[in-house]
Amino acid sequence: MSTRIITVVGAGITGLWQALTLARRGHRVRLWERSAEPFAEAASAYAGAMLAPYCEAEAAEPIVRELGLRSIDLWRETYPGVAGKGTLVVAGTRDRAELVRFARMTEGYDKLDADALNALEPGLEGRFAAALYYRQEAHMASAAALHFLLGAVRAAGVEVAFASNWSGKVGGDELVIDCRGLAARGDLPGLRGVRGERMILETREVALARPIRLLHPRHPLYVVPWGDGRFMVGATVIESDDAGPVTARSALELLGSAYALHPAFGEAQIVEMGAGVRPAFADNVPKIVVRGRTIHVNGLYRHGFLLAPTLAQLVADYLGTGTVDARVFRVET
Ligand SMILES: Cc1cc2nc3c(=O)[nH]c(=O)nc-3n(C[C@H](O)[C@H](O)[C@H](O)COP(=O)(O)OP(=O)(O)OC[C@H]3O[C@@H](n4cnc5c(N)ncnc54)[C@H](O)[C@@H]3O)c2cc1C
Repeated sequence: MSTRIITVVGAGITGLWQALTLARRGHRVRLWERSAEPFAEAASAYAGAMLAPYCEAEAAEPIVRELGLRSIDLWRETYPGVAGKGTLVVAGTRDRAELVRFARMTEGYDKLDADALNALEPGLEGRFAAALYYRQEAHMASAAALHFLLGAVRAAGVEVAFASNWSGKVGGDELVIDCRGLAARGDLPGLRGVRGERMILETREVALARPIRLLHPRHPLYVVPWGDGRFMVGATVIESDDAGPVTARSALELLGSAYALHPAFGEAQIVEMGAGVRPAFADNVPKIVVRGRTIHVNGLYRHGFLLAPTLAQLVADYLGTGTVDARVFRVET
């Protein structure tokens, strides 16, 4: 075991996976988080927690799909709560062209007609004439996954300190992995915030096994079934670092789309509404920036759950063998 202490700063999804992976590789690790309550100030608490490398390829660079596919295996090896039911993508009758466009931009799907869709997802019976089915994708309920990872981090021997605000200083024999999300903006030129609003609805009148993406030219939406009658409805993508409450306009869009997906959502209870700010670089691809004895892991944008496990492996490989994937690493010293 190395004697050098590795301090991971930030207990969001990025920091949790970094701490867990490094501890499992035999490093002495501590994890510092500024908030007193777990996940109280983390964008990660707002995620739908879909692992959707194929669907996200509609707008993301190919490396997101490549790294994301590796992460799905890492999640499955670690967390028993991963639901491997795939993703369904549908469009209303007037928006059929959106389905054609989405199919053109992505791969890894089967085309389903109405009968096949009804057989796979009876809760949508009769509602859509066609769908795209991405069977290799997965999802989970984000809060349960975050708490599970925190437990796994502690069980792996990591010293976890909440209410610990990192000052930016690096001690003599210390290595820092900075996973502060948007709070690291002052140290990472180009890092920006992308606001995402979401709602959690509760109803026993809708039964879905997998995330459903409803395409629309202006308001594409997804619904993620989290179990126990809870559904995450998301998410807006707004160029803003405002983490304030959900706006009336966004609430109307999210609820209108959920209602269009299934009218029974009209009777659902709104259990929670909120906005998180995703940290992102200009190309929306994450970066591992090595600067002296600090390694910044940031810019996970819409893909924190999807990419954190693989990024943690890349950092651990770098510390072990010096291996660098030039597509995500920037070594400045
Ligand atoms: C609405 C919404 C839906 C999303 N859905 C998905 C999805 O389905 N799938 C997916 O893969 N991704 C999704 N994402 C994206 C994902 O949530 C982000 O990519 C991810 O949360 C980024 O995680 P992070 O750990 O880098 O940052 P954060 O979660 O923000 O964590 C950073 C942590 O650092 C702490 N910190 C900051 N400064 C200090 C300091 N000085 N000292 C100590 N601690 C500090 C903060 O308190 C915080 O806890 C979604 C995001 C949003 C907003």
